[in-house]
Amino acid sequence: MKKTALLILIVCLMCLSGCTTEKQSFLFGTIVSVRLEGGKAYKARDAIFGMLEDYERTLSPDIEGSDVYRINHSEANTPVQVSDVTLFLLREAKRVFVESGGAFNPAMRALSELWGFPGGLTRVPAKEEIDGILPYCSMDYVVIDEVKSVVTRLSEYTKIDLGGIAKGYFADKSYETACEHGVGRAVLNIGGNIYMAGSGTIAISHPRADGEFFGLLRVSDVSVVTSGDYERYFEAEGKRYHHILAPDGYPSRSGLVSVTVIGKNSTVCDALATAVMVLGEECGEELMRNYPDLMFITVSEQKTCSVWNDKGIFELSDESYSVTYRK
Ligand code: ADP
Ligand code: MG
Repeated sequence: MKKTALLILIVCLMCLSGCTTEKQSFLFGTIVSVRLEGGKAYKARDAIFGMLEDYERTLSPDIEGSDVYRINHSEANTPVQVSDVTLFLLREAKRVFVESGGAFNPAMRALSELWGFPGGLTRVPAKEEIDGILPYCSMDYVVIDEVKSVVTRLSEYTKIDLGGIAKGYFADKSYETACEHGVGRAVLNIGGNIYMAGSGTIAISHPRADGEFFGLLRVSDVSVVTSGDYERYFEAEGKRYHHILAPDGYPSRSGLVSVTVIGKNSTVCDALATAVMVLGEECGEELMRNYPDLMFITVSEQKTCSVWNDKGIFELSDESYSVTYRK
């Protein structure tokens, strides 16, 4: 009897001091890794992965039968019934599309396919190929009917890819799930979209030195999202072509190599990181100023770094770069 009581006490103490669990998986074409401490960490972990697998089945353009797949394979002008999450993300995406003057544009899947990014068979398309479909690669060709829960594409060349915003949403939802399970501290990394529950330090990857970090951020209960030209790219005839496309249908050449956005709403941070990558510092300034609660760190080809809407949480690691705090 005494032994049983002791065992129960040890188990209780272990649970009070917090259970820790880690898991990695490959979802949505990227690595998802979570580390959770305290509360119902194991239950939270399983709930998060179950939820992410559901989202993948709904949102992946590569999974037959997903909402996005059905939109991309529908007849032009024919409404497609979709779920609430698809409607929500398309609405958010369209808002940032308008706000960024088309720099953030999830209707460019057909162009990404021309470049071969989705399947990995990359190549430089002819200008005529790009110009031939460019006018249709616009959210203006995607009609969202929230009342009927249907989405209609107006051209067969209009294809959607929510890859530039969905990982942020997954980070938000993973954080919510961790909180619901009383988890005290968690690092939720959805392919580089990180949500930190509790406090800790997050390293920003170096855009030009593989495996090294560029700077450190001391954060608590906030998301850190980085978009850059160094994760997915190919080289042809000495030129680098990366996967974030500008409104002209070519990889963005704004002078920026990475953009990090820090804020509570990872969905918005994700879309804005891509938008600012495309716009560059000068054209992106107005957009960044529209979000005073979000901090932006932009890194340029010229080895300069700017911090916008500073919150005093950034420390540069690579001293060969200069930092300017933009007031
Ligand atoms: P990553 O974490 O892969 O760097 P991003 O959040 O920067 O992702 O978004 C890039 C993904 O979004 C691409 O894989 C592509 O599917 C899509 N994409 C490419 N260019 C744009 C753009 N200008 N606006 C919105 N989405 C884009
Ligand atoms: Mg993004």
